[in-house]
Amino acid sequence: MMPRVGLRKNFQAIPMPLRTGIRRVRSWLPSRFRYHPAFQRTYAMLKESQWWDEHTIAIHQFRELKSLLQEAAARVPYYGRLFAASGFDPDRFRGPSDLGKIPFLTKEIVRTRRMEFLARGIEGSALDVVTTGGSTAEPLGFFKKSREYDAKEWAFNLVQLERIGFDQRCRSVILRGERIRVTRNRFEQYDPLRRNLLLSSFHLSEENMPAYIDRIRSFSPDYIQAYPSVITQLARYHRENDLPGYSRLKGIICGSEPLYPWQRKLLTDTFRCRVFCIYGQTEQAALAGECEHGTLYHVFPEYGYLELVDDEGQSIVTPGRTGEIVATGFINRIFPFIRYRTGDLATLAEGPCPCGRKYPLLAHIVGRQQEFIFNRRNEAISLGPVLFGIHDADMSCIRQIQFFQNRPGNLILRVIKSPGASNESVEAYIARSLRTRLGDQFDIRVDFVQRLPGTARGKHRFLEQAISPPPGDPA
Ligand SMILES: [Zn+2]
Repeated sequence: MMPRVGLRKNFQAIPMPLRTGIRRVRSWLPSRFRYHPAFQRTYAMLKESQWWDEHTIAIHQFRELKSLLQEAAARVPYYGRLFAASGFDPDRFRGPSDLGKIPFLTKEIVRTRRMEFLARGIEGSALDVVTTGGSTAEPLGFFKKSREYDAKEWAFNLVQLERIGFDQRCRSVILRGERIRVTRNRFEQYDPLRRNLLLSSFHLSEENMPAYIDRIRSFSPDYIQAYPSVITQLARYHRENDLPGYSRLKGIICGSEPLYPWQRKLLTDTFRCRVFCIYGQTEQAALAGECEHGTLYHVFPEYGYLELVDDEGQSIVTPGRTGEIVATGFINRIFPFIRYRTGDLATLAEGPCPCGRKYPLLAHIVGRQQEFIFNRRNEAISLGPVLFGIHDADMSCIRQIQFFQNRPGNLILRVIKSPGASNESVEAYIARSLRTRLGDQFDIRVDFVQRLPGTARGKHRFLEQAISPPPGDPA
């Protein structure tokens, strides 16, 4: 029988004016009272731990892993049974190389056996139910202690953002798919606690673009935090209309989707500021971000243990090789994700980074699930590398593009042209750039369209996939 779980009333369920009021009062408090005490503790640790040497990092990770595994064995029914069945004894855990004895955790397992992941003896009143933003895939639901874990998350993110000059007094415009109640044609909401102006990315159409740009200009943000696909739309509009950038803007912070090199170049050329990427998941299993020196992702060893595995499930240790991110999160102890297959691909990068942090480094993170196309032989081909190979010059004739597939070997490209671009220039680009990359295993057709559908979270999807992966495919 499923255990009953009492859920605390989610903060999001409180009416918006009251919620804004609460956040305004909290914003007046001194920093240490503004958030859950876990924020201050985590922040203080990270200010030091980011400069730890490899040995200290290894000791910290060993302790975190061991205590997590012991707790999971004792309190979480799924892991209790799994460890017993696979002959894994957390009390005899000697180091990360022992993790190989624990079978991987998939989204499907979490979906079908959700209540077995909840730790026993948890006060029901302290839990929130959280759902990931699935697009084609079914969303994943799980439990967490929102106030505490979100406070920790904010500490980690703040420490990353400080690398590019961000501090708690900075003002940001947020274009990240937040649901905003639109009143009197205003697509915005202000969060006084974080000094964020949240703009709806669902209403960012061609017609509304001038109003958005006026609003961003009058707010004059220090940073814009956005989905790459959304900020790319804004940047293209700026370029096409020869509009000036924003005077105070110091950086654009991207996350939740891959940022392709041509997008980075477009954003840097248009807004003339640093573009900074963060990688993480709602499940809080792994977190990484760029640093002041470059664009490699620095994986937080204080946040979780990250493995990169090849198609056979073997650990990748050679820089330059690409594999799937398998993560064990240290934050969520009441619903632990251990050896969790994230479905995201990354390339192991070579260190050390000139910034001096001894964190593991990754390059080119792409979402795996949304990014596969199937050729005539029904072989899965990752779209990420194809998109990574596209140059900005190639993209100048295209404003937006979406790949659509409804049967293997058949690829439809839905294209919104740039103003003034001819059908022939787009066709030539497709021939030059994509046909050569994809080989002769695809029939490619171009459909010129006026509009592309967004996802439930307001992102632009590069691929709308109507084919399910063949059985046995890891995607
Ligand atoms: Zn660095």
